[in-house]
Amino acid sequence: MIRSANPDVIRPYLTDASNLTGGYASEVVFPENEKEVIQALDEACRTKTPVTIAGNGTGLVGARIPFGGIVLSTEKLGGLREIYQAEGDSGYAVTGPALTLKQLQDAVSTKELLYPPDPTEQNAFIGASIATNASGARTFKYGATRRWVRRLKVVLSTGDTLDLRRGEFVADEENSLFLKGSKNSFELKLPHYRMPEGKHSAGYYVSPGMSAIDLFIGSEGTLGVITEIEVGLIPKPQGFFSGVVFFDREENAWQLANQAREESLKNRTAGAKDQIDASAVEYFDSHALEILRSSYAQIPQKAQSAIFFEQEIQAGTGKHLAQQWLQLCKSYQALSDQSWFGQSPKEHAEFRMFRHAIPVLVNRILRQYRQTKIGTDFTVPRKHLFDLLELYRQKLKDSGLRYCIFGHIADNHLHVNLLPQNNEESVRGWQLYRQIARQIIAWGGTISAEHGVGKMRREYLSDMFGQSGLMEMSLVKKKLDPCLILGRGNIIPEEFLNG
Ligand SMILES: Cc1cc2nc3c(=O)[nH]c(=O)nc-3n(C[C@H](O)[C@H](O)[C@H](O)COP(=O)(O)OP(=O)(O)OC[C@H]3O[C@@H](n4cnc5c(N)ncnc54)[C@H](O)[C@@H]3O)c2cc1C
Repeated sequence: MIRSANPDVIRPYLTDASNLTGGYASEVVFPENEKEVIQALDEACRTKTPVTIAGNGTGLVGARIPFGGIVLSTEKLGGLREIYQAEGDSGYAVTGPALTLKQLQDAVSTKELLYPPDPTEQNAFIGASIATNASGARTFKYGATRRWVRRLKVVLSTGDTLDLRRGEFVADEENSLFLKGSKNSFELKLPHYRMPEGKHSAGYYVSPGMSAIDLFIGSEGTLGVITEIEVGLIPKPQGFFSGVVFFDREENAWQLANQAREESLKNRTAGAKDQIDASAVEYFDSHALEILRSSYAQIPQKAQSAIFFEQEIQAGTGKHLAQQWLQLCKSYQALSDQSWFGQSPKEHAEFRMFRHAIPVLVNRILRQYRQTKIGTDFTVPRKHLFDLLELYRQKLKDSGLRYCIFGHIADNHLHVNLLPQNNEESVRGWQLYRQIARQIIAWGGTISAEHGVGKMRREYLSDMFGQSGLMEMSLVKKKLDPCLILGRGNIIPEEFLNG
C-alpha cells in the first residue's frame, strides 16, 4: 500500500474548503483496493490510531481534517466501473468512491442519462457526497443524494465488509437494525430522535422501517469506508429553459420564488409537462449580487436581488414555457428586460456558473482575511420561510457584519455567509450564528441541510437532538466501530466516545 509520512505529502490533507486550521496527522495512506482498506483499518485498530477518511477536500465543515492519527485517502480507490441502461430509458452506474461528480455527470451524459443530485461543487467525490448526503439546486425536484443511492459496499474498522442494498436489512418496529457483515453480525439500537422536516444532513439518519444503507449515507466518515457505490440515473432531459431574473426589491424575488415553487409542485403532481415545473429555484440577495459584480459587470445597476431558475423542456414545449415564465416575472415586477433567459446548453451552463460563482467568491474573500467561513446551512419547515427571511434581514443588518444570502429558496434553505474581517468580528459572527440556530431549531428546522456537521457544527447538534440523541448515536458508532478510530471529532463530541 502506498503510504507517506512526508509533511509535504500530508499537508494538503490538513485542509478543506472550511478554512479550519490546526489539523495534523502522522501519515497518509492510499489504499488501492478493498483489501488494502481492510489492512489499513486493521493496523489502525490494533494500534488505536485515529483514521480520518479523505475525499476531495471540498467539504465545508472540516470533516476530512484530521486532528491526530492518520489520513486514509480514497483517491486511489477507483472511479467509474460501469453504466447500465435499465428499463424506461433510466439506468444506474457502479463506481468506486473517487469519481468526481463532474466525471460522473459527463460519463452518464454520453449515454443520454443524468445523475439528478446536483451539488454546486462538482469536484466533490461521489463517495464523499454520499458520506455527507450532499444536495443541491435540483434537490427541489429530485431530492438529496440519499434518494439515488441503491447499493453501497462499506468496510468497517472490524475488518467486515458490508454489502448494503436498499430494502435489505430493514429496521424493525422496536427501532432495532440487524446487519450481517463478512465476518460479524451487528445488532443496533437506532436513535429515537425525530428527524426535521425537509432537507437534512446532521447526525445519523433514522426513520421507521429504514434500510441499513441509510445509516451510512450522511455518516461523515464515522462508521466505515465506502468503497463501492451504485446510484440511480434518469433519462437526460432534452434541454433546459433557464434564466437569471433580477428585481429591484428583495421581497419581489421572495414572492416569485414562492409562486414558482407552488406552481411547480402542483403541475408536477398533475403531470402537466407544458406548465411551470422548475427543477431549481435559487435566490441571491443584494449583498450576494454586490460580490458577484466583481466578476459580472453586466448585472443590472438597479438589481437588489435575483432568482436563478431552470426547467427541463421536451421537444416543442420551450416556447410555451418561456411565455409562462415571462408572465410570472411580470407579475412580480422583475426587471425582465435586463434579465437573462436562454434555452441553449451554453446559456444554461453560463447561468449555472453564475450560481456557482457566489460560494467560490465568498471563499476567496475569506482566504484574503484568513478567516474561517461562518456559513449557515439551515432549513426550516415551509410555513416559516418568510419568518426566516425576515429574521435574517433584521439580525444581519443589526450586526453590522459583512454578509450575503443565497441558495435553495424552493427548499426553504438559504445560506447566510458571514464574512468576518478579523477575529473580533468572527467571535460576534459565531454568537449571531448560535442565536439564529436556536430559533431555527425552535421552528423545527435543521442546523445542517446538506454540508454535514463535521467538526464545526457539533455543538449545535445537541441543541437539536439533546444529550440523549448524542448518546444514542455514540452507541451505534461503538457497535460498528468498536476501536473508535473512524472520523474522530466528526458529529459526535469526544466525551460521548471516551469511557
Ligand atoms: C464552492 C462550494 C460549493 C459547495 N456546494 C455544495 C452544495 O451545493 N451542496 C452540498 O451538499 N455541498 C456543497 N459543498 C460542500 C462539499 O462539496 C460537499 O460536502 C462534498 O460532499 C464533499 O466532497 P469531498 O470529496 O470534497 O469530501 P471531503 O471534504 O474530502 O470529505 C467530506 C466527508 O466525507 C467523508 N468521506 C469522504 N470519502 C468517504 C468514503 N469513501 N467513505 C466514507 N466517508 C468518506 C470524509 O471523512 C468527510 O467526513 C460545496 C463546497 C464548495 C467549496
